[in-house]
Amino acid sequence: MALERGSTQHDQLIERMRAHGLEALALVPGPNLHYITGLSFHLSERPILAILKTDGARAIVLPVLEAAKVTPGDGLDVFPYTDEQGPGTALRKACDALRLGESRLGAEGLRLRLLEVQLLEQYAPGCPLVMAEEVLGDLRMRKEEHELERMRSAVSATQEALEAFMNLIEVGATETELASILRMELLRAGGDEIAFSPIVVAGPNTALPHATPGDRPIQAGDSIIVDCGASVGGYIADITRTFVVGKPDPELNAIYSVVQAANRAGRAAVRPGVPAEEIDRAARQVIEDAGYGDYFIHRTGHGIGLEVHEPPYIVAGNRELLEPGMTFTVEPGIYLPGRGGVRIEDDVLVTVDGGKTLSTFPRELVRLSQ
Ligand code: ZN
Ligand code: ZN
Repeated sequence: MALERGSTQHDQLIERMRAHGLEALALVPGPNLHYITGLSFHLSERPILAILKTDGARAIVLPVLEAAKVTPGDGLDVFPYTDEQGPGTALRKACDALRLGESRLGAEGLRLRLLEVQLLEQYAPGCPLVMAEEVLGDLRMRKEEHELERMRSAVSATQEALEAFMNLIEVGATETELASILRMELLRAGGDEIAFSPIVVAGPNTALPHATPGDRPIQAGDSIIVDCGASVGGYIADITRTFVVGKPDPELNAIYSVVQAANRAGRAAVRPGVPAEEIDRAARQVIEDAGYGDYFIHRTGHGIGLEVHEPPYIVAGNRELLEPGMTFTVEPGIYLPGRGGVRIEDDVLVTVDGGKTLSTFPRELVRLSQ
């Protein structure tokens, strides 16, 4: 999955760095480093920094115990350090070898810690640090077929898990108990990891879009929001469905139909050349027209791939034009404070002639038996 040296993707990285005025790029363990080099490490108290230059020079500073992960084929000069030495000398040598000078150094604004910032300030003092999120987002936004294959597997594992899970929801079980069952189902269905802590919330807790599962037992009449995803080969799915135990209250029924229509309208608006904000507008319009505009309190969606939240963001103000290969969620919701909420989230792929919804789990309100 690493970009092959000399491949078009590698050239694209260099081209994008140049276009953004970057002469070098510093990466820490995480999805960007994995995408660009194929290497995976944990972000820990032992710093790891890969530095790539537009002239092709590449180095990685890392603890000696991780050094064997890097092979000559990775095209990185390795600068290992022991626990006793610490990273300073290795980083100094790497910066010298790279001839960093006063290069504009792109860095992951959302990932770099003060630890790495201070190391770079000390050992690459002439290099201004610049947020490189745009370069990296732009590079990763259009998925290749091998990435889509993994995403489809993640979606199908998630759907299989949801299907099995639905039948295990019981009155009296707590949200946390159910969330741990769902984790197991996601792995059992073929996820090699859980993409994020699953949300299983019921009753009044459904009024909070990012509620944490708690100790309240499920009661008859509760609506239940289940938001989860499996990860396959590093790529994730992110699907939400709202269920009801027994007979739904009339208002829940009403808002469910509105959210269902908003989800449909959002997905129907997907096609290449349309600004990302247009998908948000299409979904939001349905909810506003029904009088619930004030209760849809988040953006309509976010890009998905190696990360659960990545560009493109489906939000008012994002004029970025959709392109084939982009993948994102469409997840409108209505949340009535103190009472409850509904969200329906699907994963969508932009294709040459429109949009394809990757998730196919039924969107009708499922009534679970008590
Ligand atoms: Zn979600
Ligand atoms: Zn989501």
